[in-house]
Amino acid sequence: MSLTIEVIKEKCVGCGRCVRVCKTGTLKMDRTTGLVYNTGEACDNCWDCIYACPTKALDIMEAE
Ligand code: SF4
Ligand code: SF4
Repeated sequence: MSLTIEVIKEKCVGCGRCVRVCKTGTLKMDRTTGLVYNTGEACDNCWDCIYACPTKALDIMEAE
């Protein structure tokens, strides 16, 4: 089973911390909405983004 990150949009405040710590390009900032989204790029399951998020807006989910 492969795991990746889900962004809970309602909790994201667009601070960008998760994007800065993500080394795989899995998380990117949408310049229009100011919110983070999952690009679908393979996640290495380091969970650095989860620890970096101040609002607990990131969760672990199964990758498709
Ligand atoms: S767990 Fe690691 S690789 Fe995956 S999205 Fe978060 S920071 Fe990026
Ligand atoms: S760290 Fe959390 S609140 Fe900040 S942009 Fe990422 S998901 Fe949104």
